[in-house]
Amino acid sequence: MENYPRNIMDFEKRFNSEEACREYLFKIKWPEGFKCPRCSNNKAWLTNDCLYKCSKCGFKSSVTAGTIFQDTRKPLQLWFKAMWYITNQKHGISALGLQRFLGIGSYQTAWEWLHRLRHAMIRPGRDRISGIIEVDETYIGGKKTGKKGRGSEGKILVVIAAQIDGKRIGRIRFKRIPDASGDSLIPAIKETIEPGSTVITDGWKGYSKLETFGYTHKITKKEGFVGENLLPKCNTVAALLKRGLLGTHQGRVQYLDYYLDEFTFRFNRRTSKFRGMLFYRLVQNCVAVNPIHGKNLV
Ligand SMILES: [Zn+2]
Repeated sequence: MENYPRNIMDFEKRFNSEEACREYLFKIKWPEGFKCPRCSNNKAWLTNDCLYKCSKCGFKSSVTAGTIFQDTRKPLQLWFKAMWYITNQKHGISALGLQRFLGIGSYQTAWEWLHRLRHAMIRPGRDRISGIIEVDETYIGGKKTGKKGRGSEGKILVVIAAQIDGKRIGRIRFKRIPDASGDSLIPAIKETIEPGSTVITDGWKGYSKLETFGYTHKITKKEGFVGENLLPKCNTVAALLKRGLLGTHQGRVQYLDYYLDEFTFRFNRRTSKFRGMLFYRLVQNCVAVNPIHGKNLV
């Protein structure tokens, strides 16, 4: 049973102490009960400094070890507030916004937290999307549409895969690629889309070998320019992505990978009935991903 706060009142009530936050993490980390990371024994003693000491091998573990929260000196309650805030914003957020919300003095801390949490927005070992998928590339960081396969100074090329769900857009995936050649496009598609799916693209030659990798390939039109509206779902996603990027990052692209993760996380859960569900997913991911340290953030 998924266990998440329904609204801000519920959130405040549930996470009103460090202990409550720790217990929540405990249940997510060890849903079947404690398991020693060293010997798999399932009994432990809680020590005074909130560590779980294995009753068999004596190994000490904590709910935060091996998670995003490892080595944090800030209260878990503050982290929980940050996660609540991030998952309750409809659009992307800025480090400054987070800093203000948390009421912390350091912009640097807010910035680091934001990047850690974005990192956690990608579920480790996440699945590929399947079904009928539109695929297109888009340039980030430039205004003009460019001819495919030609280098564009200062621009970053991103593959968009958008699942077609009737008239709606289903789930999406992004993958940054160095160029629009088949050698870049095919691996990006293999990483994001299940074989057996139908892949709809324009007539660009980079996609021509798709069928040999187990996909059904449909072509909308022979000639294609990047940004042309042959693939409306991809185009919608690209427009939303660029708008969001302008709004929260003033168009800066150096943190694009993080932003793509955040955008995907929000977009694929945009119809979730409860925002608390996003919160729950984010906490789960924070517990599952490996910690990253300041110097490895970018
Ligand atoms: Zn043990």
